[in-house]
Amino acid sequence: MHSIIENIGLQFGPGAAWLLTSTTIFLRFAIPASLVFLFAYKWKRKKWFAWKIQQKFPKAMQIRQEISYSLLTSLLFGGMALGVFFLRKMGYGHLYFEVAEYGWVYWFFSLAFLIVAHDTYFYWIHRLMHHPQLYRRFHLVHHKSTNPTPYTSFSFHPLESVLEFAIIPVLTMILPIHAAVFFLFTLWSILFNILGHTGYEIAPSGFTRHRFFKWLNTPTHHNMHHHHARFNYGLYFNFWDRVMGTNHPEYDQYFEQVVERALRKANPTVR
Ligand SMILES: [Zn+2]
Ligand SMILES: [Zn+2]
Repeated sequence: MHSIIENIGLQFGPGAAWLLTSTTIFLRFAIPASLVFLFAYKWKRKKWFAWKIQQKFPKAMQIRQEISYSLLTSLLFGGMALGVFFLRKMGYGHLYFEVAEYGWVYWFFSLAFLIVAHDTYFYWIHRLMHHPQLYRRFHLVHHKSTNPTPYTSFSFHPLESVLEFAIIPVLTMILPIHAAVFFLFTLWSILFNILGHTGYEIAPSGFTRHRFFKWLNTPTHHNMHHHHARFNYGLYFNFWDRVMGTNHPEYDQYFEQVVERALRKANPTVR
């Protein structure tokens, strides 16, 4: 991918390289998001409704707005991703291509490190964006979706998109990152985000109280954040929300209600 972008950049100019990068980023988000959307909001809408966290569907207007902002986000992410390549050419940033350079242990460590560092970064900038001044100006765009859909995952004010991406060049500058690690990390981030915004719960009863699984966020966790615009600021892990006491006080209880209601509706003979 790196050399394709470079060749296109050399042959057709930076505009074409930007368009190619942005399109790739958009498709990596839009294809899984649309698949989930088609199943959960169109084809299996009735059958799966029992698992819908908020027992209603958002208006078409909200979805149109989310897709428009997602296009803008992809263009910005594309521009900034090119910036990372450019920085690398200038000698800043340690994106590498041969696993042997640092070995497999480091390869897995760097992937885990990226996920944990991003989770921490996200929690704190997210809390910052809930400051009333910043919330009104930027973060409100994301929160216009009070009943989120898979397309909400890329629906940001342009300045929030820049802030969301800003961690990437910083991380590539502080530690060497293999190209495949970078690819897997961004894929994990996109898929987890889509799941968190999907509007459906898939985790089983007891998940939020389980010794290990309680540390992983659920779709209900982030859905509550959109519904109430307070509490539950975390991204992948339920670590910072637990440590900082920002989990919704009724998170466990509400999660169980959602799951129990789903089981009852899906199988009315079981009480
Ligand atoms: Zn928020
Ligand atoms: Zn969200």
